[in-house]
Amino acid sequence: MQIIESIEDFRKISHKKETKVGLVPTMGALHEGHLSLVRAARRENDIVLVTIFVNPTQFGPEEDFLQYPRNIERDLDLLKKEDVDIVLIPTVDEMYPDGFSTTVNIGKLSEKFEGQFRPGHFNGVATVVTKLLSICRPNVAYFGAKDAQQCAVINKINKELNLGVEISIQPTVRDENGLALSSRNYYLSDSEKTTANLIFHTLNKMHKSWKNGITNSKILTNQAISTLQSDKSIELHYLAIVDSEHFEEVDTLKYDNLIIIAVKIGSTRLIDNITLT
Ligand code: AMP
Repeated sequence: MQIIESIEDFRKISHKKETKVGLVPTMGALHEGHLSLVRAARRENDIVLVTIFVNPTQFGPEEDFLQYPRNIERDLDLLKKEDVDIVLIPTVDEMYPDGFSTTVNIGKLSEKFEGQFRPGHFNGVATVVTKLLSICRPNVAYFGAKDAQQCAVINKINKELNLGVEISIQPTVRDENGLALSSRNYYLSDSEKTTANLIFHTLNKMHKSWKNGITNSKILTNQAISTLQSDKSIELHYLAIVDSEHFEEVDTLKYDNLIIIAVKIGSTRLIDNITLT
């Protein structure tokens, strides 16, 4: 496994034209969710490339950029075991040199739901993903369905900026209680983890109600919101049913719509979603 810490050095590596390259962009603090993307990339490509970069421009001034869990040695061990070919760990200075001012602004989609609670977040994501795709030039890039709005943002920039990459969205990996794995779960105490199980429980219950024939979005969300609000240890940020491309709220539920949720438990913000299938 090659470990490269500079974009310039990375650019010196050349692959044969017919080599298929799969890219998994991450912010490190790897868990089984990340590794599921790496395994999909390993199955489907000749070269697997993983980037580890905690991107400052997607964190707000009050957010956890400095505290974000970092453990490069452990991450590298895990990636080696997955038979990854190259790990690129660029520095903030090289990604955003003095005077850097070009950003990707994706408009309305960046202002809804997650964007409302995290102003600037998705433009930061769109900018860094555009940069990583143009540095790495993969055939396929892998992302997790857990971050559904991020997936919509990436599909949008890929299409509208003609980036020409195949975007592969992999299913959310959950723990035994259904809690979506996240680097931010490291922040949760045991009792907060128990509370966090309500997230998937709620999504599942709504999904079941839909399967049982309830198609009115208001009825479904209002019921779930009042249950969640009765638990004082959860601060509900949003619970909505949207289409997966534009994140417009729907009145009547359809196949492929998403139920999306964000909550704060203690000082930890968690998001999750489920697709109507
Ligand atoms: P992050 O390091 O949080 O930026 O995540 C890197 C990639 O891993 C993103 O595409 C995430 O959507 C994906 N990811 C994070 N958690 C999970 C999970 N529990 N299951 C599947 N993919 C995930």
